Amino acid sequence: AFAKVKTEPPVEVFHLVKVFQADKHEQKVNLGIGAYRTDENKPFVLPVVKKCEIEVVNDAKLNHEYLPILGNPDFTKAATEMVLGKDSKALKEKRTLSVQTISGTGGIRLAAEFMCQHLQRRTVFVPNPTWENHMKIFKQAGFKHIKQYKYWNAKKRKLDMSSILRELSEAPEGAVVLMHASAHNPTGMDPSKAQWHQIAELIKQRRLFPFFDCAYQGFASGDIESDAFAIRHFVDAGLETILVQSFAKNMGLYNERVGNLVVVLNDKQQLPAVASQFTILVRINYSNPPAFGSRVVHKVLSVEQNRKEWEQTVCMMASRVKDMRKQLADKLKQLDTPGTWDHIVQQTGMFSYTGLTPKHVQKLKDDKHIYMLSSGRANICGLTTKNVDYVAKSISEVVKE
Ligand code: PMP
Repeated sequence: AFAKVKTEPPVEVFHLVKVFQADKHEQKVNLGIGAYRTDENKPFVLPVVKKCEIEVVNDAKLNHEYLPILGNPDFTKAATEMVLGKDSKALKEKRTLSVQTISGTGGIRLAAEFMCQHLQRRTVFVPNPTWENHMKIFKQAGFKHIKQYKYWNAKKRKLDMSSILRELSEAPEGAVVLMHASAHNPTGMDPSKAQWHQIAELIKQRRLFPFFDCAYQGFASGDIESDAFAIRHFVDAGLETILVQSFAKNMGLYNERVGNLVVVLNDKQQLPAVASQFTILVRINYSNPPAFGSRVVHKVLSVEQNRKEWEQTVCMMASRVKDMRKQLADKLKQLDTPGTWDHIVQQTGMFSYTGLTPKHVQKLKDDKHIYMLSSGRANICGLTTKNVDYVAKSISEVVKE
């Protein structure tokens, strides 16, 4: 029965983890998968998250009954307020719908299925480059035209705003436009506030449909509110939208798969129909979401002291990454490494789109035991005060060869 099953190549980031683990070299460095690491190069369980996990486990009132199909309402309410802002007009006017999702990926898939089946969308524009999973998810969900808009100027190593505006202005009416809310993966470059204004205006004029992937709220600026600027601006400008939040990175809950999807519509009369379709989509996909992570996130967000502590921790994580960017860029310059390296400092979030070529990346892996994606994307969280010298020296050598 299985003779005709074709073997696909492994998923690059997860494959790199395996290869990295098998590497016995003492100085090996993993700059592949997007996960935060401490300066001791250890996975990080946020203390406030740990505390809330224990409280959830010990809460005698909780049980393992099924959650409602659309998820834990306490969690989705808190998550939605976190992204739209407590004072959001859309929330006050009760014209939003929230759906708990299987982290960011599951939310994007659900949103794509909904937009295909119920908004009759077949065309999506994603940034070039973007997270490698975006295009595959939309294709699998039934989208026929997966287009890219140029986002990155490789020569100048910066955002290509004129291309973004030009290519989106040529998009057909009704097309879905995927945007990263903050800390763009893989480039680490976000539009400025003024640029977001321009993009929103264009999307409104051209009657495109904005879709936000919000996987790194807090990681770009260190501040939860600032990182929601783009989404809040679109909503305030009266645009309807769908957005998906992930709590993998900003709460370090990668394997708990906690996410939230928010639909913002202008006519609240349409909410029940939309809710009914999401209910069916969830029901036929996985019936209802897991509870544990959603309870933990709710506790973190809704208890003031916890929330404060969490925001401080996110800020600390963002600062450590920022510091590592600076150290790496400074050292590359000190070593007279050919090329410009300021972009490493200008970029935000976890990643740097280093500009290293696939050949450089291969050499770093083979000769230096330093692992990153072949696109040249490096997870800056994998740098520490102890390995940054080695990484800078290695990059410098490889580039000079
Ligand atoms: N969107 C982007 C841009 C991402 O980088 C990621 C994680 N790498 C996700 C979505 C989804 O992450 P998760 O499913 O783990 O929440």
